[in-house]
Amino acid sequence: MVEIERHDYDVVVIGAGGAGLRAAIETRSQGLRTAVVCKSLFGKAHTVMAEGGIAAAMGNVNSRDNWQVHFRDTMRGGKFLNNWRMAELHAKEAPERVWELETYGALFDRTPDGRISQRNFGGHEYPRLAHVGDRTGLELIRTLQQKVVSLQQEDHAELGDYEARLKVFQECTVTELLKDGDRISGAFAYWRESGRFVLFRAPAVILATGGIGKSFKVTSNSWEYTGDGHALALRAGASLINMEFVQFHPTGMVWPPSVKGILVTESVRGDGGVLRNSEGRRFMFDYIPEVFKDNYADNEAEADRWYDDPDGNRRPPELLPRDEVARAINNEVKEGRGSQHGGVFLDVASRLPAEKIVQRLPSMYHQFKELADVDITAEAMEVGPTCHYVMGGVEVDPDTAASRVPGLFAAGEVAGGMHGSNRLGGNSLSDLLVFGRRAGVGAAEYVSGLAIRPDIAESDVDAAARRAQQPFEAAGDTVAENPYALHSELQQVMNDLVGIIRRGEEMRQALERLHDLKARATLLAVEGNRQFNPGWHLALDLRNMLLVSECVARAALLRTESRGGHTRDDHPSMEPRWRGKLLVCALARDHVEVTEQPQVPMRDDLMALFTVEELRKYYTEDELADVTAKGL
Ligand code: FAD
Repeated sequence: MVEIERHDYDVVVIGAGGAGLRAAIETRSQGLRTAVVCKSLFGKAHTVMAEGGIAAAMGNVNSRDNWQVHFRDTMRGGKFLNNWRMAELHAKEAPERVWELETYGALFDRTPDGRISQRNFGGHEYPRLAHVGDRTGLELIRTLQQKVVSLQQEDHAELGDYEARLKVFQECTVTELLKDGDRISGAFAYWRESGRFVLFRAPAVILATGGIGKSFKVTSNSWEYTGDGHALALRAGASLINMEFVQFHPTGMVWPPSVKGILVTESVRGDGGVLRNSEGRRFMFDYIPEVFKDNYADNEAEADRWYDDPDGNRRPPELLPRDEVARAINNEVKEGRGSQHGGVFLDVASRLPAEKIVQRLPSMYHQFKELADVDITAEAMEVGPTCHYVMGGVEVDPDTAASRVPGLFAAGEVAGGMHGSNRLGGNSLSDLLVFGRRAGVGAAEYVSGLAIRPDIAESDVDAAARRAQQPFEAAGDTVAENPYALHSELQQVMNDLVGIIRRGEEMRQALERLHDLKARATLLAVEGNRQFNPGWHLALDLRNMLLVSECVARAALLRTESRGGHTRDDHPSMEPRWRGKLLVCALARDHVEVTEQPQVPMRDDLMALFTVEELRKYYTEDELADVTAKGL
């Protein structure tokens, strides 16, 4: 029998990015014993990589901004497929969460009169992103960690043990969720360094595991983002929504090959940078979609005036939502107007003085200097789309972040609904804090309402340990599969067949390839033992990546329209009849089933924030008749 380290907690938070840490701060503050488990080093999460800022309608730079405008922008960005209640809570609560961060010790950049400064970003009507240079995520994580430490110091003063009520288990990967009947009872994990198994007994688990980008070849995501939380939720009986919507950020590095996909922050465009093709033309003016025509300038003079007079001019089209810009770049390259290495040019050098570029975009300056030997104060950057963010995720109750499975909660990128078909830049950091906190409150209420705590069956623990050890059993077998080779094939399939531009026939091919890869994954084999063995880690991660990729491909094949982060070459327009439909993925035995689910109609007072002319771009005639009948 294998030896297993065991722990008892009230709540286990899986993930130590912004969502996980904010959730853990909440549960600990409510007196619950909380474990934070993270696969990478504490402090190394995508949140720390966030550059541009956190969106919150504080109205510091333009006093016209308020939660209603932020709500409208978010719904427009998501093409009205968002869970409107989440978008409402997010817009209302984001400013409070930013101010709260300053009480934890954050220090955002300031306006000349000392208020938190806010910058422009794609899809946001007013300057709205609170920021710390282009290292906002670093400040967010630093501050949340500082709050964790201060809570631990309180526990030490009161109980003589820093970790009495809040303990971090870093470099520890969760591979299974455990249940007692239909309720969550804990999580099974292993230490990455020693390979030893760990069992957490807890009635509530909060998933905060971030994204899925490592299933795609060109991505801004780092090694941890293998869709673990999405897959854990599915296997535990929860549902995923919106999985067809994957955001390809328009500006990733394209050269040199070793850094292809690394993000170039949208702040470059927010601060005045423009996109040009190989002919030197600012091509974004050619790609303003009908639904955005009233808000975006159709000529360079007006676009440039907007930076000094945003109330008297329309916005530059470089600041359209990400899906629009990514498609435009893709098209320029396809039509032969791309750069030498298959991207386009992002030029800030001719737009801002060198010292201002270095001051406002220090990370970008160093990133290009060190990785590509390009001085962005003197020459343009070469950029192209990169897989960045997944809008789809665990279907949750908007107020409590509870999933369908009692005791299982999800927040941050792993949760679905908030961003609809496309996320606006900056809306993730605010999402993490708003819904991280709400997940903490939801889990605390759930745990305190339990009459009997769920238990863990030893047979389930043995089964989890057996599954984790399986890749060692096939070692030496002649038909054994190599995890690195399989991963690389999966990434190629997803990039080529379920990437930024999709076609029915290609996605059917992708599903066949995924079926084949899934069968081959049962033969994955690794040499050696469980002590720091990256091949073994990847073999376990692949199980999750394959499952989540199947959800993306199946949902994408079913949605026969183009909307937000889902572009169909064979169904190029956005169809109002699809707006009211969510595609929900669930696991039936071992295969993914996707079903249609009607979207809950928006509350009347929120609907009244839009004009009928605007709603006409997204809603069916029947739905509009209902709106006009109500006199909204
Ligand atoms: P993450 O911060 O991604 O953390 C996930 C955590 O889960 C990690 O601790 C990881 O180790 C852990 N984990 C995963 N699987 C397991 C497992 N099986 N077991 C244990 N632990 C696990 N958004 C913005 O709003 N503004 C920006 O400026 C911005 N810039 C970005 C720049 C880059 C380069 C990237 C990649 C993203 C950016 N985003 C930005 C998006 C945003 O950073 C992420 O969506 C967000 O940080 C996700 O936060 P999270 O808390 O959900 O998860």
